[in-house]
Amino acid sequence: MEDCLFCRIVAGKIPSTKVFEDDAVLAIRDINPQAPVHVLLLSKRHHASVVDASRADPAVFGRIVAAAVKVATADGVAERGFRLLTNTGPDAGQAVPHLHFHLLGGREMGWPPW
Ligand code: AMP
Ligand code: ZN
Repeated sequence: MEDCLFCRIVAGKIPSTKVFEDDAVLAIRDINPQAPVHVLLLSKRHHASVVDASRADPAVFGRIVAAAVKVATADGVAERGFRLLTNTGPDAGQAVPHLHFHLLGGREMGWPPW
């Protein structure tokens, strides 16, 4: 989608710091990191959120999780732990309507997450 920020990143039209890529997923460093490790796992196909992707391409979730574990291992946070999450819709504060998961690690995180 021409007007989608993350589609433009996937297409290489906007620069990003790539940490992993395969045919389904592009993993990039978040531009405004909230933890020492903050990586975004973008679906290469455009889906507005998990709701759309669960209908159109449910296999993408396994691909994203597998990519996240690879990145967490490479970045050295797999052992101590990390958080993998996706914001969906306005109540969750989803800012970019293109399917992506946040991988956060490298510090202790609180729970519940408000
Ligand atoms: P969300 O609120 O879940 O939609 O998260 C959007 C995330 O995208 C935020 O953490 C932003 O910091 C991040 N972000 C926005 N623009 C860029 C960009 N050009 N490159 C990398 N991360 C970005
Ligand atoms: Zn998109």
